[in-house]
Amino acid sequence: MSSEFDTINLETIRQAHKRIAPLIARTPLKPAYTLGKSTGKEIYLKLETTQPTGAFKLRGAANALLSLPQSVRDRGVVTLSSGNHGKAMAYVAGKLGIRAVIGLSDQVPEVKVQAIRDLGAEVQALAMDQFEATKSLRAFAASHGMAYISPFDHPDVICGQGTIALEILEEQPDIDTLLIPLSGGGLLAGMGVAARALKPGIRIIGVSQEDGACMHESMKAGKLVPVIEKPSLADALLGGLPEDNQYTFPLCRDLIDHTILLSEKEIGHAMAYGFRRERLVLEGGGAVVIGAALHPDHGHLLGEKVAGVCSGDNVDIGVLLDQVAAFPDP
Ligand SMILES: *Cc1c(COP(=O)(O)O)cnc(C)c1O
Repeated sequence: MSSEFDTINLETIRQAHKRIAPLIARTPLKPAYTLGKSTGKEIYLKLETTQPTGAFKLRGAANALLSLPQSVRDRGVVTLSSGNHGKAMAYVAGKLGIRAVIGLSDQVPEVKVQAIRDLGAEVQALAMDQFEATKSLRAFAASHGMAYISPFDHPDVICGQGTIALEILEEQPDIDTLLIPLSGGGLLAGMGVAARALKPGIRIIGVSQEDGACMHESMKAGKLVPVIEKPSLADALLGGLPEDNQYTFPLCRDLIDHTILLSEKEIGHAMAYGFRRERLVLEGGGAVVIGAALHPDHGHLLGEKVAGVCSGDNVDIGVLLDQVAAFPDP
């Protein structure tokens, strides 16, 4: 099976995997037996936290920048980010000697803003909604002859994220369920296209925060709808789907079997569980798959052998320690 887009299929995802290999880590697939015991399933966690930038976004950013022609590399790239995509773009751009301008909203935590500056990228602070921010950054890119690279709605970014599914199914071909953090849907679209091509019956479950789950709300409405952003422990999952979305909405609509939504309490509990029981440092967005696996109402959605993506570890340490203190026995 391939997707309805000829730039996003098993073959282009395999090519991406080769292309990005020199820049990314082959991340561990940890048998999470403690989580397995708590849930009665066999569970594996794909530790994208061990990427050099602490999040899977490095895969998409590396694939996108390595695919640009030299003439575009010479002028530079512009992007909008909730933090981790910006950090990944800054890291790869630094390695390749490309100018990078990263637009950040005021919801981006300081730990991420500082990391992006430290990597040498230019930061534009944008105190406006994502639709306005995208417009403004696209205009900036056009006026400087630079390339605008969406954090999720871009074929090269989607194919880069999809490489995670290749690694999971190569190591554990019997996995029957994928738990995938879900915001703009680049991660789920890429992994879903690769996984369904390799294993048509695999279950694909997206996990989002309860308030402002942009893909879930849009799928429910059958069209792109704006969401109201509320601060969340899962700051990496905030943001909306710009109205010019081309790829991730139709792909996610086709690929997703279920979405699981978590409250702030459930996300905090998942962060504490990951830290105490699995010894993992996770940001909220990186912990939601643990919250979904532990959720008492959703166990029936999972098969027997489950892989979840621990998508990022870029959390303010004080915020993580607050969750650990709030849930002393997660
Ligand atoms: C970006 C991000 C996500 C969501 O990815 P999308 O492609 O936008 O769905 C999940 N977790 C972390 C840590 C992220 O940085």
